[in-house]
Order: sequence, then C-alpha cells, then structure tokens
Amino acid sequence: MNTNLINTVFRKEVLALSVYKVAEAKNLIKLDAMENPYRWPEDIKQDWLKLMADCPINRYPDSEAKALLATIRRGNQIPSQSGILLGNGSDEIIQILLMALPEKSCVLAPSPSFVMYRQVALSLGLNYQNTPLLADSFELDLSAMINTIQQKKPALIFLAYPNNPTANLFSEQAINTVIDAAPGLVVIDEAYAPFANASFINKLAEHSNLLVMRTVSKLGLAGLRLGFIAGNKTIIEQLNKIRLPYNINSLTQITADFALKHQDLFEQQAQQICRDRALVLEQLNKLLNIRAYPSSANFILFKTPVGQAGVIFEALKSQGILIKNLSPQGGILTDCLRVTIGETAENEKFIQALTKITESLK
Ligand SMILES: *Cc1c(COP(=O)(O)O)cnc(C)c1O
Repeated sequence: MNTNLINTVFRKEVLALSVYKVAEAKNLIKLDAMENPYRWPEDIKQDWLKLMADCPINRYPDSEAKALLATIRRGNQIPSQSGILLGNGSDEIIQILLMALPEKSCVLAPSPSFVMYRQVALSLGLNYQNTPLLADSFELDLSAMINTIQQKKPALIFLAYPNNPTANLFSEQAINTVIDAAPGLVVIDEAYAPFANASFINKLAEHSNLLVMRTVSKLGLAGLRLGFIAGNKTIIEQLNKIRLPYNINSLTQITADFALKHQDLFEQQAQQICRDRALVLEQLNKLLNIRAYPSSANFILFKTPVGQAGVIFEALKSQGILIKNLSPQGGILTDCLRVTIGETAENEKFIQALTKITESLK
C-alpha cells in the first residue's frame, strides 16, 4: 500500500489516532464493560419476540422514533419544554454534538473520564482540553476548571455524572458553578443514572446551556445501541440536522419501547446490582493492600500495590475473570483496576480469586 496516499488523503488527527480496542471475552467471566449481567425472564422474552415477528423490516424505520421518544420522555421525567435527540448509543450522540461545533473549537472534560470524549474530539480535529481530577477524592478541581474555561472558552464541556472510571458523583455545587461559568454547552453524561440516585434532569428548565445525556446500555440493553440527550429545543433542533435520518433502526425502536415499559424489571436488577456493589466494596477493602473507592455506578475502581496492577489483571484473566486494567492510562489511575458488578456468584468468584492473588504477592 502506498503510504503516501494514506498520508495525503486523511487528516493528520485521524492518522495519529489508534483504533478503540475491545478486549476478547470469550469463555471469561465478563466484568470489564459495565454491562448488566441479567437477562429477561422467559415470559417477557416471549412477549418481545411476538413484537419482533410483526416488525415491518422491509420498511425504513420511523425517522423521528415518535413512540419511543414518548416512552423515554415519560420514563425519565423529561420536562415538556425540553427537546430530545436519540442516538445509536450515546457514543453517536457525542459524535453528533462534536460534529456540530465550529472548526478547532475547544472541548473540555475532566481527566480521567470517559475515553470517547477525547477520541471523537481528536478525530474531528477539535482542541481537546482536560483538567485533572483531585487525587483520592476524584472531585472536580474547580479552580483549574474555571481557569481553563476562562482561557479556552470551550464550546462544550462533558461531565460524566457519575464519572467513568472513578465511579463518583462530582459535587453538585461544583457542577452548578461550571454550568454558570461555561460560555458554551455543558453535557451531563448520566450513563450510570440507574445506580446513582442523582440527576440533573430536573435542572434542565433552569439552564439554557445544559444538556443531559443517558443511555440504555448500562441499564441492561448494551446490545441495542440506544442513547438520548435532552435539553433546550433550539439546541436539539440544530443537532437533529446532523443526525442521519434512520440512525435508530426498527428493531431497536420496538425493543427499547417494549423494554422501557418494563421499567420495574430493570429497577429490580439495578437494586440487586447496588446491593452486590456494597458487598464487593466491603470485601475489596478487607483485602491486604487493596484500596477500593466508593461507587455510585455499577463498577468499582480499586488501587493495587505499586507496580502490581498488570500482574493482578493477568492473574485474574488466567483464572477466567476479565476486568479492566486502567494503570496504563497513568496519572491518578496508575496501579488502578476497575471491576464491573456482575451476578452475585460471579462477584464471589472474583473476590475469591483476588484474595488468593493478593496473598501470593506478599
Ligand atoms: C458506557 C458509557 C457511555 C456509552 O454509552 P453507549 O450508549 O453504550 O454508547 C457513555 N458515557 C459514559 C460515561 C459511559 O461510561
């Protein structure tokens, strides 16, 4: 292949990126990607299959996904004056948001946070800036953030609430200060809302530059690829111009609409996950030399002895358990691993394996 061709046709920012790699999880207990481990009961599955069978798959989907939008609006208490945009996962919404910004705009997020903010911003040649979180508390460094806001005037700020990978909720007051100081949009990414008991949805009416983004992925529908963002109707209208007309396929529309009408089922699953989260947190903190951080999400970040994260990660993997090694990201994530809360029995296997591994490190 002529590398000269590659170098001339693609943007330098694209050439500098690496492909987002997803770990192979075949035959492993999968505790790496914040998925809900629970499937649907058989009777619900049968009702869903009937709907699927009747889906007019020869036709294009409803471009506006009206039925699903109404269900989402109701289920999430989105104020009537707010608009809603759907995306093929919130990943696509991040892309739509950033595609709409002027060339070379500044995009700001704390660090560490969700990696797609940076990945998409860089792919589009935007000026991605971050301000490090405070060590240990993982709180926003408010003065650093306000400084960057004043100097770089970001067109858009992402705040994951709770944050991935640190699992904490930033101070509500600090977020309000950021929203008030921001010259552009502020996106509160509530991917982990089902486990958090906190939200900015009820603040949408108060701030014209505030957007709240959610996804069904962590709730229990990661395979569907569906996210949404709510906010000022005039903002949503601009984003809708960039959205591809049929971005939400018919099967997703029908399935999500059906699933969200069984919200009680997902709530029960989320409650089980939260109970198990408390148990895993306590067990992790009993282990010698492990420090686990409090979590408002369906995963836990924990710190291992210096230089041991890679060894522990590989040892778990060789025993059939896949978690996420964040240590290569460096900074405050050095020596850190992240585990998703799985089924109760999977969590027990994880704790048992980790107990043996940490004892053998002594
Ligand atoms: C997982 C995650 C997402 C991605 O959600 P999808 O809807 O599956 O694309 C978005 N934001 C944060 C903070 C996440 O952790």
